[in-house]
Amino acid sequence: MKPRDRLRIAMQKSGRLTEPALELLNRCGLSFRQSRDKLFCFGEGEPVDLLLVRDDDIPGLIAQGVCDLGIVGRNVLQEYQLTAGLEAGPLSEWRPLGFGRCRLSIAVPQELDYREPKQLAGSRIATSYPGLLGQWLREHGIEAGVVTLAGSVEIAPRLGTADAICDLVQSGGTLVANQLRETEILLESEAVLAGPQMLPTDERGDMIELLLKRLDGVIQVRESRLLLLQTSRGTLDAITRLLPGGPQPTLLPVAGQPDQFMLQALCAGEVSWRQLEEIKKAGAREMFVLPVEKMLA
Ligand code: ATP
Ligand code: ZN
Repeated sequence: MKPRDRLRIAMQKSGRLTEPALELLNRCGLSFRQSRDKLFCFGEGEPVDLLLVRDDDIPGLIAQGVCDLGIVGRNVLQEYQLTAGLEAGPLSEWRPLGFGRCRLSIAVPQELDYREPKQLAGSRIATSYPGLLGQWLREHGIEAGVVTLAGSVEIAPRLGTADAICDLVQSGGTLVANQLRETEILLESEAVLAGPQMLPTDERGDMIELLLKRLDGVIQVRESRLLLLQTSRGTLDAITRLLPGGPQPTLLPVAGQPDQFMLQALCAGEVSWRQLEEIKKAGAREMFVLPVEKMLA
């Protein structure tokens, strides 16, 4: 294949990952002129172009060297590695990207009294992920039938073509709507930056390194939150233990109230409502969670 002097990144043409992937690349300083057929986007500033394809094609395009990198769900990447055969060449997950989060789970009809994986022995499980499901079944020593479907997996039990399913779950709403219950999580997934195991040794390798550095900066800021709250001396320890990961919090005195503090903590990730409620229960008041715009350590 002719060596390329521009980096080519494969991403989903239209779907859940499209908008967040484009936004992430924009934040890394990359912008694209969209061509009319919308398959190929020419990079305007940096020598980085996009190929817009179905997400399932992305690992193969990287393995064949058609693209240097790809933005794709971990579920698709791992399934490809389990099913594509050895000649495909190993791929790496270069960075987790923090969007497109979901899990690959087994779900059974709600009325089934499910207690343990062994109960799946002898059943038929419908899935679009035969590689990942097969691996999990082997690890658990379960012999079950794997019914591979391209889509609409969740209706298979009602149609009588399967007893259980193994599918992607985000909120669980689709499962409930189909009278199914999530019982086992096989994989926690999110969008990842995928690439070959070895960086190319030409200028593209240098470009990839530069992109990775920018990406790390963008991800770090995007996931950081500043948590502010008020606490009294007595509840300080309990609250500190509940704080999400990050550097040591800062304590500021509250004027006129010697027993009160304003606590300020930089958190490495999202702070959920549940975490906030727990911290409040431990005695915190006046809580704020603020996004971080820029950060320079
Ligand atoms: P196409 O094959 O046309 O590119 P698709 O239907 O396979 O599209 P989407 O439904 O857009 O793909 O999902 C893309 C990725 O988004 C999934 O592979 C998965 O990593 C992630 N994802 C996050 N939440 C969900 C969810 N609830 N259902 C399916 N995928 C999800
Ligand atoms: Zn797909």
